[in-house]
Amino acid sequence: MIRYGQQDITQQDIDAVTEVLRSVNLTQGPSISRFEQAVMDHTGAAHAVAVNSATSALHIACVALDLGPGDWLWTTPNTFVASANCGLYCGARVDFVDIDPRTYNLCPATLEQKLIAAEKTGQLPKVVVPVHLSGQPCDMAAIHALGQKYGFRIIEDASHAIGGSYKGEPIGNCRYSDITVFSFHPVKIITTAEGGMAMTNCPDLATRLSLLRSHGITRDAALMTQPMDGPWYYQQVALGFNYRMTDLQAALGITQMTRLTHYVERRHQIADRYAHLLADLPVILPWQAPDSYSAWHLYVIRLKLDRIGVSHRKVFEDFRAHDIMVNLHYIPVHTQPYYQQMGFRQGDYPQAEQYYREAISIPMHPLVTEAEQDFVVQVLREAVAS
Ligand SMILES: *Cc1c(COP(=O)(O)O)cnc(C)c1O
Repeated sequence: MIRYGQQDITQQDIDAVTEVLRSVNLTQGPSISRFEQAVMDHTGAAHAVAVNSATSALHIACVALDLGPGDWLWTTPNTFVASANCGLYCGARVDFVDIDPRTYNLCPATLEQKLIAAEKTGQLPKVVVPVHLSGQPCDMAAIHALGQKYGFRIIEDASHAIGGSYKGEPIGNCRYSDITVFSFHPVKIITTAEGGMAMTNCPDLATRLSLLRSHGITRDAALMTQPMDGPWYYQQVALGFNYRMTDLQAALGITQMTRLTHYVERRHQIADRYAHLLADLPVILPWQAPDSYSAWHLYVIRLKLDRIGVSHRKVFEDFRAHDIMVNLHYIPVHTQPYYQQMGFRQGDYPQAEQYYREAISIPMHPLVTEAEQDFVVQVLREAVAS
């Protein structure tokens, strides 16, 4: 079976996790801050807060930015549901901005039009969540400029994008955002089984994020409302959660981080080879913005349905029949029943819907071999010829 995405676990990873298992701290030990430091060193961000998933990181990022009832969060419909759900967790309302048909990311021009309209009705968003689909960064300079003009905050959902860069700088440095979120789910670029991290350059946001990660509880006298009763003392100063990452996971994250650059280079080799092998087939290949270096989490092809005699579904099923576990990223979030019940309709975001009718994520991870790539392309060639 060839999967669309898959983790790479080495003996180095196993040894690191085993070492934690033999230690006294299975959670809240020294590995967490070492893992956070490794990601700060890579990205250049000033602060990092490791948590148990990117979903948790998105949630506390919204809380830290004071998103609440009466506020709006805008994101792209072409994402995993978590990028939108984080707004609903806070009681805010969620709306979407259609995608750029070339990058498949949130389109800054469409965002601007929507902002102009929203300003007139007094419904400007408090938070916008751009998602770096497949690891290709959004046009963050444009989105950031709109944020300055219209006064919204920015959370980058970089779940696909650790190891990539934008205008020559690492994704996650938060130059164009308040907070950047990474995911370490096994299909992503590096893994901690479950896990996520929130990056920021703002010390105040970092303090809030780390409070929210663990019940809103602090042992830091500087954050307390009164002097400590004694050495046992702690205070709950906010309503937080238990979103902590374990030391087992952080130890895995540390060793995975040592291979990040290698992983992304390998993904680039695979992408380049696909581009070559697929060049004569009736598919649209993923376009790359010249100022970006993708982390290549996904390799998405779009079928030119007017040039082939079979349906999208048939091609997808042909892959699966050959044990090639292709996938589709993503079902537009606004078409999910939960969002339909909030009033969204089919047709609301035509670019994302058109993309959904044509897209297939073919296998892309560091362990994909050349023979497997050749097989994937052969199956596709036969599927579109039939
Ligand atoms: C995977 C993913 C998430 C959620 O990540 P978890 O770590 O599984 O919570 C959020 N957003 C996007 C775009 C993702 O791909």
